[in-house]
Amino acid sequence: MPRIIPRAQHTISRSHISPNALRVLYRLRDAGFQGFLVGGCVRDLLLGLEPKDFDVATDALPEQVKRLFRNCRLVGRRFRLAHVFFGQEIIEVATFRAASAPIQDEEAPESELAGEEPVQAEDELIDQGGPVTEAGAARLEAEHAGRDAPVADTERMFDDTGRILRDNVYGTIEADVWRRDFTANALYYNIADFSIWDYVGGAEDIAARELRMIGDPETRYREDPVRMLRAARFEAKLGFTLEPASAEPIGRLRELIGGVPPARLFDETLKLFLTGHGERSLPVLRRRGLLAALLPNVESYLVTHPDSLVEKLVTRGLTNTDARVSAGRSVTPTFLLALLLYGPIATIIESLPPARWHEVTSILEACDQAVREAQRHLAIPKRFTLGLREMFALQPRLEHPRGRRALRLISHPRFRAAYDLLLLRAQFGMASADIANWWTELQGVSEDEQGRMADALAAGPERAGGQKGRRRRRGGRRRTSTGAS
Ligand code: ATP
Ligand code: MG
Repeated sequence: MPRIIPRAQHTISRSHISPNALRVLYRLRDAGFQGFLVGGCVRDLLLGLEPKDFDVATDALPEQVKRLFRNCRLVGRRFRLAHVFFGQEIIEVATFRAASAPIQDEEAPESELAGEEPVQAEDELIDQGGPVTEAGAARLEAEHAGRDAPVADTERMFDDTGRILRDNVYGTIEADVWRRDFTANALYYNIADFSIWDYVGGAEDIAARELRMIGDPETRYREDPVRMLRAARFEAKLGFTLEPASAEPIGRLRELIGGVPPARLFDETLKLFLTGHGERSLPVLRRRGLLAALLPNVESYLVTHPDSLVEKLVTRGLTNTDARVSAGRSVTPTFLLALLLYGPIATIIESLPPARWHEVTSILEACDQAVREAQRHLAIPKRFTLGLREMFALQPRLEHPRGRRALRLISHPRFRAAYDLLLLRAQFGMASADIANWWTELQGVSEDEQGRMADALAAGPERAGGQKGRRRRRGGRRRTSTGAS
């Protein structure tokens, strides 16, 4: 039986709930179904945070949900979810589900972080079993018609590490709760009377700011190794403590992350670093030994270069990214990759003879090699790896602007990201601050003035308005293009 926390004893007010989520909940309720907010949104509301999205759980079957809403689409191949559209906002409605399958695998990938239109789940899901056939859905619906006889089709398959491969079942709320990961993520807000249903002590854990895995932690991590990364994400995002029993197996099991589909790991990486707490995610991942499992080349750079300038650059870059997120500005996986792979790329370049350090081909090859290493675990879409190459290849061109031709770089599609990287490098003495300032100033003046600035720079330091316009020293040795050493 759940502990039921009545409205008078908790702080969740409907004024903090998305009006669209409320519309969905009311309509479910009025049609005689159960309707609950569930997961991260309940947790965040209790913490006084603004939820990223509002997820609804119900005993209505997907087809029944679809019939209730005109603006509704069913997604997902085997476990179907209803997406109810309200302009930009999508309210995801999931039928209660039994067993502990990796939920995320089944849901539409959260590709908005990757800057894409939401993709229909079918397109990207890993094949974990056959599609729900019309006949199958009809059967489930028929079974569900006798509402007190929940479907209990516990057909589950594991691989030899214990990872759940398939698990096909709609269930009741009592079953739904146990497949969730942390107690803090397993609270249900009931639209019938605005109470909270807590089967797992989640309310207490939220109050104590503790992350506690539901069930036996080792089993749950084996079922879905991404839960280890989720633990790190919630530690970083919420500042919660991962309680010892939930933390302990991670050191032993982290290698299992290598068996997770790389597209999912890429998605999870973006959630770790591009949702406003990236700076905190890095040390948490390292402390848990998870960076080594996700991006071994990044971890090994950081281990072999303790307190390096590159580490400072990465940290500052992540702080800047977090600030952009909280200001509602856009962030890009390309820039994130450039930060994370900066050390590995620098190492590869510096392993070449110094004469080759500034060749664009060396820089591009280093980018490609570092990306290949990162691709061992992460499926990084090509447009981001291409963007990364462009950002790095632009560094020497930004550092040594040549006459008016340099002005054309401003309209390069990757200029903004490359300039941001140059600024960061300049902050840590890895590139000339004068040149970085020159580019900053350049963007704030008229075209005529830009021409004059380019001419002055080309004419040499004394004519460049007091700036030490650094021109290419012929034959002389310069810093590496990354400036890491
Ligand atoms: P966020 O604020 O980042 O969205 P969230 O807790 O809402 O955090 P989601 O990934 O949106 O996380 O998932 C919604 C809910 O689904 C979670 O709160 C949790 O109950 C459940 N869940 C998601 N992924 C898993 C998983 N891999 N294993 C078990 N339960 C999961
Ligand atoms: Mg969520």
